[in-house]
Amino acid sequence: MKKITIAIDGFSSSGKSTMAKQLAKKIGYVYVDSGAMYRATTLYAIRNGMTDKETGIDTQALINALPLIDISFAITPEDTQHTILNGEDVEKEIRGMEVSGWVSPVAVIPEVRHYLVGLQQQYGKDKGIVMDGRDIGTTVFPDAEMKVFVQASPEVRAKRRYDELIEKGTPSDYESVLANIKERDHIDSTRKESPLRKAEDAFVLDNDNLSREEQMEVLVKLFDEKTRGED
Ligand code: C5P
Repeated sequence: MKKITIAIDGFSSSGKSTMAKQLAKKIGYVYVDSGAMYRATTLYAIRNGMTDKETGIDTQALINALPLIDISFAITPEDTQHTILNGEDVEKEIRGMEVSGWVSPVAVIPEVRHYLVGLQQQYGKDKGIVMDGRDIGTTVFPDAEMKVFVQASPEVRAKRRYDELIEKGTPSDYESVLANIKERDHIDSTRKESPLRKAEDAFVLDNDNLSREEQMEVLVKLFDEKTRGED
């Protein structure tokens, strides 16, 4: 069967990563979490003194450092995907609130986006890939055969993110998580460079009231439709 490209976009914590990961596993495709790439770049900026509460991001320093930022993914023995920044497993650190607080302003920088979009297109050049993010169906893979746009209310998403942080042992409070989600929604959807928006040909999946199993059923059905007749 001919392999296709699958783009899954949506707001922060809409559950799209879990969904994309599960789908990739089920159909034997590669999964790439593009948000993790923006997060790893942000962690690099924080660690190298390029973020400051008073003055913001040292954009020029970060642009100059982009060729030094190597991002890859590794599969752990437990079969989970971890993000590797310059040879170091940073999976836990990139999910914390400090990175979450800086990532959207970092993702606004056009040079950062061009650099990461280039890497993402490289990963997808042989198709057979599921990538999730904000601009995958619109900018990274505008010709993707299957595009999904995931929606859920900010409150439902904040609750999911909060539960996830607590489960991972990261101290958090629901109100700050909700505020961060709303702030990222705003920055992500109003930025000039490839803002978060639904691709015209994307299928909308509203998952406020859908279980994981129900979401998977919808996705697999869509995948079957898109690949039917392809050989
Ligand atoms: O998906 P996740 O919430 O981990 O992404 C973190 C941040 O990275 C988003 O809030 C957004 O600012 C940025 N991002 C982006 N484009 C993508 C993926 C993520 O701008 N394709």
